Amino acid sequence: MIKFLDLHKQKNRIASRIDGAIKRVLNHGQFILGKEVLELEKKLKEFSNAKHCITCANGTDALVLALRALEIKENEIVFAPSFTYVSTVEAIKLINAKVCFVDVESDTYNICPSKLEDSINYIKKLGLKARAVIAVDLFGQPANYDELKKISRKEKLSLISDAAQSFGAKQKNRKVGELCEITTTSFFPAKPLGCYGDGGAVFTESTLVANKIKSLRSHGQGKDKYDNVRIGMNSRLDSIQAAILIEKLKIFDYEINIRNKIAKFYKDNLSEKIVCPEVKKENISVWAQFTIRVKNRKKLKENLNKNGIPTAIYYRNPNHTQRPYKNELFIPDSMNNTIRLSRAVLSLPMHPYLNLNEQKKIVKTLNDFYEKK
Ligand SMILES: *Cc1c(COP(=O)(O)O)cnc(C)c1O
Repeated sequence: MIKFLDLHKQKNRIASRIDGAIKRVLNHGQFILGKEVLELEKKLKEFSNAKHCITCANGTDALVLALRALEIKENEIVFAPSFTYVSTVEAIKLINAKVCFVDVESDTYNICPSKLEDSINYIKKLGLKARAVIAVDLFGQPANYDELKKISRKEKLSLISDAAQSFGAKQKNRKVGELCEITTTSFFPAKPLGCYGDGGAVFTESTLVANKIKSLRSHGQGKDKYDNVRIGMNSRLDSIQAAILIEKLKIFDYEINIRNKIAKFYKDNLSEKIVCPEVKKENISVWAQFTIRVKNRKKLKENLNKNGIPTAIYYRNPNHTQRPYKNELFIPDSMNNTIRLSRAVLSLPMHPYLNLNEQKKIVKTLNDFYEKK
C-alpha cells in the first residue's frame, strides 16, 4: 500500500537504536533537560553550522520564543506569507503583534521580496510600525534570503526564517540555520526531521538572542531556577525526544538524498500538463512535500484515491481568509498567487521509503488521468 508518509519503515530500519536510546533515558531518569538535550543541541549546531541552537517544545513555540526574544511589542507589524501553515501567523498573534500578509511567488511558493517591499510601503503609509519579517521555506525550499536580508537591513526589520519544513536544506551551499539571524524549526513527526511527539528548535547567530531564549523557555529563568528575570514559558524538549532525534539525525543526510532522487523521478516523468515545483539552482530542497499544480484537482484527487494513492492539499484556505485572521492587514487585492495556488496545489506521496514501483505507479496514474482525455 502506498503511504503519503511512511514512518513505520523508517522506524523498522533503526528500531533497536531507538529502543536503546529511549531505555537509556528511562534508566537515568533526567526527563527534562537531560544530557541528551544538550548533546542534540550540539549535534544540530554542527549539522547546520549555526552559532547557537536552543531546543524547545514545538515549532510554534520556537516562533513565539524568537518573536519574544526580539521584544516585538503589541500592535507592531510582522510581515508573513498567507500561504503557509497557520502556526507562522498564529505565533505573531500569540505575542499580540499585528500581521501584514504578503503574497508568495508563483514558482517557489515562498514570500515574494518585491511584494514585501510594497507591503512595507503600505504599512508606512498607514502610519504603523513595522518590526519584523517571517519568511517560510515552504515545502522544503529556502526562501530568497539574499533579497529578504537586503530589504530587512534597509528597513531595519528583523528577519526570522520559519524553517519548520526545510531543516536540512541548503542555499548557495549554506545550511538552513545559518542563512538568517534567527531560524526556527519543528520536529513534529511528519516534518523531514521528526521525533515521536512534539519538538522544535531555534537557531541564531546572536548570543544575546540565544541567552534570552534559554531563559524564556524555562519560565524566564535568571541565575538559577528560582531567580526569575522575565515572564517566560514552559517550552522544553523532552530528553526522550532528544534521544530519538539523535538517532534520526544519523540517517538524515541519507534520507534527504533519497527524497531528492524521488523528486527528480517525479519531475523527469510526470506529464507536461502537470506543473512540478521549481527549485532555484542555488537551493537544495529537503522536499517536505512534493506539491504539484493541476487543473481539475478535485477529480484528480478522487481518481488517485480510487487507485490507492493518497494525496493532501497544503493549503486549501490561505490564512488571510480564515476567521481568526480576518482583521489582519494586507494590500487589498494583492493575494493573487496565494489564491491561485490554494485552488491548484496537490501534494503527492513523498518520503525516503517510497520504492521505485510505487513511484512508477504514481506517475503512471497521474499521466493516464491527463493523457486519456
Ligand atoms: C509545522 C509547522 C510549524 C509548527 O510546528 P509545530 O511543531 O507543529 O508547532 C510552523 N510553521 C510551519 C511552516 C510548519 O510547517
